[in-house]
Amino acid sequence: MSDPRAEKAERERQYRAAMADYAAENASHHQPQAVVACGLCDDEGYRGLTVCDHVDHTAAARRGMEKIRRAMGWQR
Ligand SMILES: [Zn+2]
Repeated sequence: MSDPRAEKAERERQYRAAMADYAAENASHHQPQAVVACGLCDDEGYRGLTVCDHVDHTAAARRGMEKIRRAMGWQR
């Protein structure tokens, strides 16, 4: 029924769309305002050796640990 070439073209289209989405999501570190506003990364938008997403995850990590502590019944 279906044309394998059309299926391949559709897969390639979806792949390109997914890659474009990914690139758009990861382009924030190239926005000068985001880099300047972010105190976590350098002028190139890098936090150490990784690309910075300009989001401070410290608070979220702390909340996560708190949940784990409560779930595990740890007192400290
Ligand atoms: Zn940053």
